[in-house]
Amino acid sequence: MRSDRREEIAALRKSNLENLWIAYQPADGLVSGEEAPIIIESNGCWLTDIEGREYLDALAALEASAVGHKHAKLITAITEQLNRVEFVDTFRYLTPAIIELASKLAEITPGNLSRVHFSAGGSEAVEAALKIAKQYHVLKGDMHRTKVISRYGAYHGCTYGAMAVDGHFYATRNYIYEPFSAAGRFVSPPYSYRCLMCADECSLKCVDEIELLVSRERPETISAIIVDPASTAIGVSIPPDGYMQRLREMCDKYGILLIADEVISGLGRTGKLFACDHWGVVPDIMTLSKGLSSGYIPIGATIVGSHIANLFSGRPDGVFWHGHTFGGHPVACAVALESIKVIEEENLVYQSESKGKYLKDSLNNLMSKHPSIGDVRGLGLMCGVEIVLDKKTKTLSTPPSKLGFAVRSACRDEGLVLAALEPGSVLLITPPLIITEAEIDILVSKLSRALLRVETEWGIR
Ligand code: PLP
Repeated sequence: MRSDRREEIAALRKSNLENLWIAYQPADGLVSGEEAPIIIESNGCWLTDIEGREYLDALAALEASAVGHKHAKLITAITEQLNRVEFVDTFRYLTPAIIELASKLAEITPGNLSRVHFSAGGSEAVEAALKIAKQYHVLKGDMHRTKVISRYGAYHGCTYGAMAVDGHFYATRNYIYEPFSAAGRFVSPPYSYRCLMCADECSLKCVDEIELLVSRERPETISAIIVDPASTAIGVSIPPDGYMQRLREMCDKYGILLIADEVISGLGRTGKLFACDHWGVVPDIMTLSKGLSSGYIPIGATIVGSHIANLFSGRPDGVFWHGHTFGGHPVACAVALESIKVIEEENLVYQSESKGKYLKDSLNNLMSKHPSIGDVRGLGLMCGVEIVLDKKTKTLSTPPSKLGFAVRSACRDEGLVLAALEPGSVLLITPPLIITEAEIDILVSKLSRALLRVETEWGIR
């Protein structure tokens, strides 16, 4: 590398440390002490950093990149929209893009989901969902439905409303920001690998727990149950059959709204267009973000059923007191429309299902080679690999995330980007939906090399 190039990189790194405050990190860099790669190019499933290193993006830019990086059609859609109208606010004006995207979402989302409120990201979409739910009950004369049930481990965003329903296992951190606006109540999520509730066979005791909570709290005080139906944050928790159906029945029985947070799982990630489709469940409200625009421009959407929208219609108190300047940004809507078109044209929902199966089979095959792989699970191209010190006893490291972080770091050295989820050690693998079988083979062999190194260093093999 030329020395002026080296100096340029050093200057960038220095000013990062001085001026940039990275998300979920202390003010002065990464808590792990690592240096984040500075990415200067992206293409398909691949990223290149400023030092010229290539990475296979097995995380799809935090689950956003559905159609892959630098898709020519999406870039054209962005530049065409920029050349027509770069921005007008949606409080005063409409654009064809926002109207067309709302219609498209009404067409492709399940059941009677049909009225779309746009925002600029996942947390904002969740905020809108919680407020709509609350107002829905108020409009019905139910003034006391203030509580929202969520699951331990769930992540629904970092704004105050969304944090109220974040059940992260490390909720000990929430105390810093409390109190929250909504009253969150939390239940155990489905987690079959370490389920403490059901014996050998799942009998959906985790749903019984929710029903018990509902009756203890009194149903007439509960506004909504929010779930990310196929959850990454809970360590890739895929609910057993019957779970979502029972939630739907419970909500109907007690007049509670069911919010499906499909910010990650929506738009094909799990091998169906929406995760709810796996169980034929129609939520009252659905939130979307990441894969909606494939991450090209920030966007969030909160889609509500017609029974909710109808209640808000034609009455002064039905005004929804909510809106973000950049919600429904014309360029975001135009690129989201194009991204959905590409998902349809390139059959990416089917690709997610079939490549997901190939990925899961390949990861399962790794299990016999690697004593640290305790479990492989997933749905479509949302896969989790749970890493343990001892397969028989399922022993975790101390702290539990330490082993996963070590593997994540070794993967990075191999040129593979994935996430390690707290509080256990679950490697999250969610590549772009366009990933090929050849790229999955590369992914798996990079992972295998990283595991081998960590297992040797940690004395696991
Ligand atoms: N909901 C879910 C299920 C998420 O995974 C996330 C982010 O990862 C959010 C909401 C928040 O989205 P954002 O980071 O765009 O605010």
